[in-house]
Amino acid sequence: MTAPITQDLLTIPRKLPETGLRNIVGLTRDELRDALIEAGTPEKQAKMRVGQIWQWVYHWGVRDFALMTNLAKDYRAQLAQHFEIALPEIVTRQVSADGTRKYLLKIAGGHEVETVYIPEETRGTLCISSQVGCTLTCSFCHTGTQKLVRNLTAGEIVGQVMVARDDLGEWPQPGAPKDETRLVSNVVLMGMGEPLYNFDNVRNAMKVVMDGEGISLSRRRITLSTSGIVPEIAKTAEEIGCLLAVSFHATTDETRDKLVPVNKKWNIETLLGALREYPRLSNSERITFEYVMLDGVNDSDADARRLVKLIQGIPAKINLIPFNEWPGAPYKRSSWERIESFADIVHKAGYASPIRTPRGEDIMAACGQLKSATERGRKSKAEIAAETGA
Ligand code: SF4
Repeated sequence: MTAPITQDLLTIPRKLPETGLRNIVGLTRDELRDALIEAGTPEKQAKMRVGQIWQWVYHWGVRDFALMTNLAKDYRAQLAQHFEIALPEIVTRQVSADGTRKYLLKIAGGHEVETVYIPEETRGTLCISSQVGCTLTCSFCHTGTQKLVRNLTAGEIVGQVMVARDDLGEWPQPGAPKDETRLVSNVVLMGMGEPLYNFDNVRNAMKVVMDGEGISLSRRRITLSTSGIVPEIAKTAEEIGCLLAVSFHATTDETRDKLVPVNKKWNIETLLGALREYPRLSNSERITFEYVMLDGVNDSDADARRLVKLIQGIPAKINLIPFNEWPGAPYKRSSWERIESFADIVHKAGYASPIRTPRGEDIMAACGQLKSATERGRKSKAEIAAETGA
Protein backbone atom coordinates (compact mmCIF):
# COMPACT_ATOMS: atom_id res chain seq x y z
CA MET A 1 0.00 0.00 0.00
CA THR A 2 1.28 3.46 -0.77
CA ALA A 3 2.00 5.39 2.38
CA PRO A 4 -0.02 8.55 2.82
CA ILE A 5 1.46 11.80 1.66
CA THR A 6 0.53 15.22 2.83
CA GLN A 7 0.07 18.23 0.66
CA ASP A 8 -0.28 21.72 2.01
CA LEU A 9 -1.49 24.63 0.02
CA LEU A 10 0.56 27.24 1.75
CA THR A 11 -0.73 30.72 2.04
CA ILE A 12 2.38 32.37 3.43
CA PRO A 13 2.27 35.74 1.69
CA ARG A 14 5.48 36.27 -0.24
CA LYS A 15 6.01 39.09 -2.63
CA LEU A 16 6.87 38.25 -6.18
CA PRO A 17 9.02 40.90 -7.80
CA GLU A 18 6.19 42.90 -9.34
CA THR A 19 6.59 45.87 -7.07
CA GLY A 20 9.04 47.85 -9.15
CA LEU A 21 11.49 47.49 -6.27
CA ARG A 22 14.85 45.87 -6.86
CA ASN A 23 15.19 42.48 -5.23
CA ILE A 24 18.44 42.23 -3.34
CA VAL A 25 18.32 38.44 -3.04
CA GLY A 26 20.93 36.92 -5.34
CA LEU A 27 22.99 40.07 -5.84
CA THR A 28 26.69 39.49 -5.30
CA ARG A 29 28.42 41.72 -2.75
CA ASP A 30 29.74 43.94 -5.57
CA GLU A 31 26.32 44.18 -7.20
CA LEU A 32 24.70 45.03 -3.88
CA ARG A 33 27.31 47.69 -3.21
CA ASP A 34 26.67 49.31 -6.61
CA ALA A 35 22.91 49.13 -6.09
CA LEU A 36 23.16 50.78 -2.66
CA ILE A 37 25.30 53.62 -4.04
CA GLU A 38 22.86 54.11 -6.89
CA ALA A 39 20.07 54.39 -4.32
CA GLY A 40 21.84 57.11 -2.39
CA THR A 41 24.15 55.34 0.08
CA PRO A 42 27.37 57.36 0.38
CA GLU A 43 30.20 55.53 -1.33
CA LYS A 44 32.36 55.57 1.81
CA GLN A 45 29.72 53.69 3.79
CA ALA A 46 28.67 51.28 1.10
CA LYS A 47 30.98 48.39 1.98
CA MET A 48 29.96 48.47 5.63
CA ARG A 49 26.26 48.64 4.71
CA VAL A 50 26.64 45.65 2.42
CA GLY A 51 28.12 43.68 5.34
CA GLN A 52 25.29 44.67 7.67
CA ILE A 53 22.47 43.97 5.23
CA TRP A 54 24.12 40.74 4.11
CA GLN A 55 24.16 39.41 7.67
CA TRP A 56 20.52 40.27 8.25
CA VAL A 57 19.36 38.66 5.05
CA TYR A 58 21.57 35.60 4.74
CA HIS A 59 22.61 34.87 8.32
CA TRP A 60 19.47 35.77 10.24
CA GLY A 61 16.92 35.27 7.46
CA VAL A 62 15.31 38.67 8.00
CA ARG A 63 12.91 39.85 5.26
CA ASP A 64 12.02 43.31 6.45
CA PHE A 65 14.38 46.28 6.41
CA ALA A 66 12.54 47.69 9.43
CA LEU A 67 13.99 44.86 11.55
CA MET A 68 17.61 45.70 10.72
CA THR A 69 18.20 47.40 14.02
CA ASN A 70 21.84 48.30 13.57
CA LEU A 71 20.88 50.62 10.72
CA ALA A 72 19.48 54.10 11.35
CA LYS A 73 15.70 54.34 11.06
CA ASP A 74 15.87 56.80 8.17
CA TYR A 75 18.26 54.57 6.30
CA ARG A 76 15.98 51.56 6.78
CA ALA A 77 13.11 53.59 5.31
CA GLN A 78 15.32 54.64 2.42
CA LEU A 79 16.18 51.01 1.70
CA ALA A 80 12.52 50.01 1.74
CA GLN A 81 11.78 52.67 -0.87
CA HIS A 82 14.22 51.14 -3.34
CA PHE A 83 14.58 47.48 -2.50
CA GLU A 84 12.80 44.35 -1.46
CA ILE A 85 13.86 40.97 -0.10
CA ALA A 86 11.71 38.65 -2.18
CA LEU A 87 11.69 34.87 -2.50
CA PRO A 88 9.85 32.50 -4.81
CA GLU A 89 6.32 31.77 -3.62
CA ILE A 90 5.52 28.28 -2.38
CA VAL A 91 2.53 27.03 -4.35
CA THR A 92 2.48 23.51 -2.93
CA ARG A 93 4.60 21.53 -0.56
CA GLN A 94 4.32 17.77 -0.62
CA VAL A 95 5.87 15.62 2.08
CA SER A 96 6.70 12.04 1.17
CA ALA A 97 6.30 9.12 3.53
CA ASP A 98 10.11 9.05 3.75
CA GLY A 99 10.29 12.72 4.77
CA THR A 100 11.35 14.05 1.36
CA ARG A 101 9.76 17.43 0.69
CA LYS A 102 8.95 18.66 -2.78
CA TYR A 103 8.19 22.33 -3.24
CA LEU A 104 6.48 23.74 -6.29
CA LEU A 105 7.61 27.35 -6.42
CA LYS A 106 6.18 30.21 -8.41
CA ILE A 107 8.62 32.76 -9.80
CA ALA A 108 8.27 36.00 -11.75
CA GLY A 109 6.15 35.66 -14.86
CA GLY A 110 4.02 32.99 -13.19
CA HIS A 111 6.48 30.21 -14.06
CA GLU A 112 7.01 27.30 -11.76
CA VAL A 113 10.01 25.26 -10.69
CA GLU A 114 10.52 22.39 -8.32
CA THR A 115 12.92 22.06 -5.41
CA VAL A 116 13.36 18.88 -3.39
CA TYR A 117 14.65 18.45 0.15
CA ILE A 118 15.95 14.99 1.04
CA PRO A 119 16.54 14.53 4.77
CA GLU A 120 19.07 12.01 6.02
CA GLU A 121 19.98 11.06 9.56
CA THR A 122 22.64 13.64 10.21
CA ARG A 123 22.28 15.92 7.23
CA GLY A 124 20.01 16.91 4.39
CA THR A 125 20.41 17.60 0.71
CA LEU A 126 18.54 20.24 -1.22
CA CYS A 127 18.17 19.59 -4.93
CA ILE A 128 17.63 22.88 -6.70
CA SER A 129 16.66 23.89 -10.24
CA SER A 130 18.53 26.23 -12.54
CA GLN A 131 16.07 26.60 -15.42
CA VAL A 132 12.35 26.38 -16.04
CA GLY A 133 12.23 23.31 -18.27
CA CYS A 134 15.34 22.26 -20.16
CA THR A 135 16.70 22.45 -23.70
CA LEU A 136 18.28 19.02 -23.42
CA THR A 137 15.85 16.25 -24.13
CA CYS A 138 17.45 13.44 -22.12
CA SER A 139 15.06 10.63 -22.92
CA PHE A 140 14.90 9.13 -19.41
CA CYS A 141 14.18 12.47 -17.75
CA HIS A 142 10.73 13.87 -17.11
CA THR A 143 12.01 17.45 -17.08
CA GLY A 144 13.43 16.84 -20.54
CA THR A 145 9.90 16.53 -21.90
CA GLN A 146 9.26 20.13 -20.89
CA LYS A 147 10.57 22.78 -23.25
CA LEU A 148 12.90 25.44 -21.88
CA VAL A 149 10.88 28.41 -20.71
CA ARG A 150 13.67 30.50 -19.27
CA ASN A 151 16.81 30.62 -17.15
CA LEU A 152 16.37 31.30 -13.46
CA THR A 153 17.90 34.47 -12.08
CA ALA A 154 20.58 34.22 -9.38
CA GLY A 155 17.93 35.44 -6.91
CA GLU A 156 15.57 32.64 -7.87
CA ILE A 157 18.34 30.08 -7.40
CA VAL A 158 19.42 31.40 -3.98
CA GLY A 159 15.72 31.85 -3.18
CA GLN A 160 15.18 28.09 -3.37
CA VAL A 161 17.73 27.57 -0.59
CA MET A 162 16.15 30.30 1.51
CA VAL A 163 12.62 28.98 1.02
CA ALA A 164 13.75 25.55 2.22
CA ARG A 165 15.49 27.07 5.25
CA ASP A 166 12.30 28.99 6.03
CA ASP A 167 10.17 25.90 5.76
CA LEU A 168 12.56 23.86 7.90
CA GLY A 169 12.92 26.67 10.45
CA GLU A 170 16.67 26.68 9.98
CA TRP A 171 17.60 30.35 10.50
CA PRO A 172 19.59 30.88 13.71
CA GLN A 173 17.79 32.43 16.66
CA PRO A 174 19.54 35.36 18.38
CA GLY A 175 21.08 34.20 21.67
CA ALA A 176 20.48 30.51 20.97
CA PRO A 177 23.52 28.21 21.30
CA LYS A 178 25.26 27.54 18.01
CA ASP A 179 24.08 24.29 16.51
CA GLU A 180 26.52 22.77 14.06
CA THR A 181 24.13 20.20 12.62
CA ARG A 182 22.49 21.58 9.54
CA LEU A 183 19.24 20.52 7.98
CA VAL A 184 20.27 21.84 4.57
CA SER A 185 23.88 20.67 4.75
CA ASN A 186 24.36 20.01 1.02
CA VAL A 187 23.09 21.56 -2.18
CA VAL A 188 22.98 19.74 -5.48
CA LEU A 189 22.23 21.44 -8.79
CA MET A 190 20.40 18.44 -10.13
CA GLY A 191 16.85 19.71 -10.36
CA MET A 192 15.27 21.10 -13.49
CA GLY A 193 17.61 22.41 -16.17
CA GLU A 194 21.23 22.26 -17.28
CA PRO A 195 23.17 24.53 -14.89
CA LEU A 196 26.04 25.08 -17.31
CA TYR A 197 23.59 26.66 -19.77
CA ASN A 198 22.86 29.27 -17.10
CA PHE A 199 26.40 29.59 -15.85
CA ASP A 200 26.63 33.22 -14.69
CA ASN A 201 23.47 33.10 -12.62
CA VAL A 202 24.39 29.74 -11.12
CA ARG A 203 27.89 30.99 -10.25
CA ASN A 204 26.62 34.20 -8.65
CA ALA A 205 23.97 32.31 -6.70
CA MET A 206 26.49 29.80 -5.39
CA LYS A 207 28.80 32.65 -4.34
CA VAL A 208 25.99 33.98 -2.20
CA VAL A 209 25.25 30.54 -0.76
CA MET A 210 28.96 29.90 0.02
CA ASP A 211 29.64 33.33 1.57
CA GLY A 212 30.96 32.77 5.10
CA GLU A 213 28.91 35.60 6.61
CA GLY A 214 25.60 34.25 5.40
CA ILE A 215 24.29 30.82 4.53
CA SER A 216 27.90 29.70 4.59
CA LEU A 217 27.85 26.36 2.82
CA SER A 218 31.30 25.10 1.97
CA ARG A 219 32.11 24.67 -1.72
CA ARG A 220 32.63 20.98 -1.05
CA ARG A 221 28.99 20.71 0.01
CA ILE A 222 27.76 21.89 -3.37
CA THR A 223 27.62 19.61 -6.37
CA LEU A 224 26.84 20.80 -9.86
CA SER A 225 25.50 18.15 -12.17
CA THR A 226 25.94 18.56 -15.91
CA SER A 227 24.93 16.49 -18.87
CA GLY A 228 28.35 17.27 -20.37
CA ILE A 229 28.58 20.83 -21.70
CA VAL A 230 32.28 20.45 -22.40
CA PRO A 231 33.30 24.11 -23.02
CA GLU A 232 31.91 25.16 -19.61
CA ILE A 233 33.24 22.33 -17.46
CA ALA A 234 36.60 23.82 -16.46
CA LYS A 235 34.89 27.12 -15.49
CA THR A 236 32.92 25.23 -12.86
CA ALA A 237 36.12 24.50 -10.95
CA GLU A 238 37.71 27.87 -11.63
CA GLU A 239 34.80 30.19 -10.91
CA ILE A 240 32.65 28.22 -8.47
CA GLY A 241 34.99 25.60 -7.06
CA CYS A 242 32.23 23.15 -6.23
CA LEU A 243 32.17 19.42 -6.84
CA LEU A 244 31.17 18.07 -10.22
CA ALA A 245 28.77 15.33 -11.23
CA VAL A 246 28.19 14.17 -14.78
CA SER A 247 25.08 12.53 -16.18
CA PHE A 248 26.98 9.76 -17.91
CA HIS A 249 24.44 6.95 -18.29
CA ALA A 250 25.96 5.04 -21.20
CA THR A 251 29.19 3.46 -22.35
CA THR A 252 28.85 3.76 -26.12
CA ASP A 253 28.12 6.84 -28.18
CA GLU A 254 25.29 5.01 -29.87
CA THR A 255 23.40 4.56 -26.60
CA ARG A 256 24.44 7.89 -25.07
CA ASP A 257 23.25 9.73 -28.20
CA LYS A 258 19.78 8.41 -27.40
CA LEU A 259 19.82 8.88 -23.64
CA VAL A 260 21.67 12.20 -23.45
CA PRO A 261 21.37 13.74 -26.94
CA VAL A 262 23.92 16.46 -26.17
CA ASN A 263 26.39 13.59 -26.67
CA LYS A 264 25.99 14.16 -30.40
CA LYS A 265 27.73 17.49 -29.88
CA TRP A 266 30.31 16.41 -27.30
CA ASN A 267 30.77 12.67 -27.42
CA ILE A 268 32.09 10.35 -24.72
CA GLU A 269 35.71 10.75 -25.71
CA THR A 270 35.52 14.57 -25.75
CA LEU A 271 33.67 14.60 -22.45
CA LEU A 272 36.14 12.29 -20.74
CA GLY A 273 38.99 14.42 -22.08
CA ALA A 274 37.47 17.48 -20.39
CA LEU A 275 36.95 15.55 -17.15
CA ARG A 276 40.55 14.34 -17.09
CA GLU A 277 41.58 18.00 -17.34
CA TYR A 278 39.15 19.14 -14.63
CA PRO A 279 41.19 21.66 -12.65
CA ARG A 280 40.20 20.51 -9.19
CA LEU A 281 40.36 16.81 -9.82
CA SER A 282 41.85 14.87 -6.91
CA ASN A 283 41.11 11.85 -4.78
CA SER A 284 39.36 14.01 -2.23
CA GLU A 285 37.32 15.79 -4.90
CA ARG A 286 36.28 12.98 -7.14
CA ILE A 287 33.90 13.40 -10.03
CA THR A 288 30.58 11.65 -9.58
CA PHE A 289 29.42 9.72 -12.62
CA GLU A 290 25.65 9.37 -12.51
CA TYR A 291 24.41 6.26 -14.17
CA VAL A 292 20.68 5.60 -14.42
CA MET A 293 19.92 1.88 -14.61
CA LEU A 294 17.57 1.18 -17.52
CA ASP A 295 16.39 -2.34 -18.12
CA GLY A 296 18.04 -3.84 -21.20
CA VAL A 297 19.43 -0.50 -22.38
CA ASN A 298 22.67 0.24 -20.50
CA ASP A 299 22.78 -2.25 -17.64
CA SER A 300 24.72 -5.30 -18.91
CA ASP A 301 27.92 -6.65 -17.38
CA ALA A 302 29.64 -5.65 -20.62
CA ASP A 303 28.47 -2.05 -20.00
CA ALA A 304 29.90 -2.15 -16.49
CA ARG A 305 33.26 -3.40 -17.77
CA ARG A 306 33.31 -0.78 -20.54
CA LEU A 307 32.50 1.91 -18.01
CA VAL A 308 35.45 1.15 -15.73
CA LYS A 309 37.75 1.01 -18.73
CA LEU A 310 36.52 4.36 -20.03
CA ILE A 311 37.02 6.21 -16.76
CA GLN A 312 40.34 4.62 -15.91
CA GLY A 313 42.63 7.16 -14.26
CA ILE A 314 39.85 9.59 -13.30
CA PRO A 315 39.27 9.86 -9.54
CA ALA A 316 35.59 8.96 -9.61
CA LYS A 317 32.60 7.62 -7.82
CA ILE A 318 29.80 5.93 -9.75
CA ASN A 319 26.32 6.71 -8.53
CA LEU A 320 23.95 4.04 -9.74
CA ILE A 321 20.42 5.36 -9.95
CA PRO A 322 17.56 2.88 -10.25
CA PHE A 323 15.33 4.47 -12.91
CA ASN A 324 12.41 6.37 -11.42
CA GLU A 325 9.42 5.91 -13.65
CA TRP A 326 7.10 8.72 -14.68
CA PRO A 327 3.91 8.73 -16.74
CA GLY A 328 4.72 7.89 -20.35
CA ALA A 329 8.36 7.00 -19.63
CA PRO A 330 9.81 4.88 -22.43
CA TYR A 331 12.04 2.83 -20.07
CA LYS A 332 11.84 0.42 -17.17
CA ARG A 333 13.98 0.14 -14.07
CA SER A 334 16.64 -2.59 -14.18
CA SER A 335 16.06 -5.52 -11.86
CA TRP A 336 17.70 -5.39 -8.47
CA GLU A 337 19.94 -8.37 -9.33
CA ARG A 338 21.12 -6.60 -12.49
CA ILE A 339 21.91 -3.42 -10.60
CA GLU A 340 23.85 -5.37 -7.97
CA SER A 341 25.81 -7.30 -10.56
CA PHE A 342 26.70 -4.02 -12.33
CA ALA A 343 27.68 -2.41 -9.01
CA ASP A 344 29.84 -5.39 -8.15
CA ILE A 345 31.93 -5.11 -11.33
CA VAL A 346 32.43 -1.38 -10.81
CA HIS A 347 33.29 -1.91 -7.15
CA LYS A 348 35.81 -4.64 -7.87
CA ALA A 349 37.52 -2.27 -10.31
CA GLY A 350 38.20 0.01 -7.34
CA TYR A 351 35.41 2.57 -7.61
CA ALA A 352 32.79 3.39 -5.01
CA SER A 353 29.49 2.40 -6.61
CA PRO A 354 26.65 3.30 -4.26
CA ILE A 355 23.15 2.45 -5.43
CA ARG A 356 21.01 5.47 -4.79
CA THR A 357 17.93 4.64 -2.76
CA PRO A 358 14.98 6.18 -4.55
CA ARG A 359 13.57 8.96 -2.38
CA GLY A 360 10.23 10.70 -2.62
CA GLU A 361 8.90 8.48 -5.39
CA ASP A 362 5.35 8.73 -4.04
CA ILE A 363 5.37 12.47 -4.71
CA MET A 364 7.31 12.26 -8.02
CA ALA A 365 10.26 13.98 -6.35
CA ALA A 366 12.83 11.37 -7.24
CA CYS A 367 15.69 11.91 -9.63
CA GLY A 368 14.55 12.69 -13.17
CA GLN A 369 10.90 13.00 -12.20
CA LEU A 370 10.67 16.77 -11.81
CA LYS A 371 8.41 18.70 -14.09
CA SER A 372 6.30 21.70 -13.26
CA ALA A 373 2.62 20.99 -13.42
CA THR A 374 1.65 23.97 -15.51
CA GLU A 375 4.21 23.58 -18.23
CA ARG A 376 3.23 24.00 -21.84
CA GLY A 377 4.54 22.16 -24.85
CA ARG A 378 4.32 18.72 -23.30
CA LYS A 379 5.67 16.02 -25.57
CA SER A 380 3.59 12.95 -26.16
CA LYS A 381 4.71 9.45 -25.37
CA ALA A 382 4.88 8.78 -29.11
CA GLU A 383 7.16 11.80 -29.66
CA ILE A 384 9.53 10.63 -26.97
CA ALA A 385 9.54 7.09 -28.33
CA ALA A 386 10.26 8.39 -31.84
CA GLU A 387 13.22 10.40 -30.57
CA THR A 388 14.68 7.62 -28.48
CA GLY A 389 13.97 4.79 -30.84
CA ALA A 390 12.53 3.00 -27.79
S1 SF4 B 1 18.65 15.13 -17.21
FE1 SF4 B 1 19.08 17.31 -16.77
S2 SF4 B 1 19.92 18.08 -18.72
FE2 SF4 B 1 18.85 16.15 -19.23
S3 SF4 B 1 16.75 16.80 -19.78
FE3 SF4 B 1 16.75 16.30 -17.58
S4 SF4 B 1 17.04 18.30 -16.58
FE4 SF4 B 1 17.72 18.53 -18.74
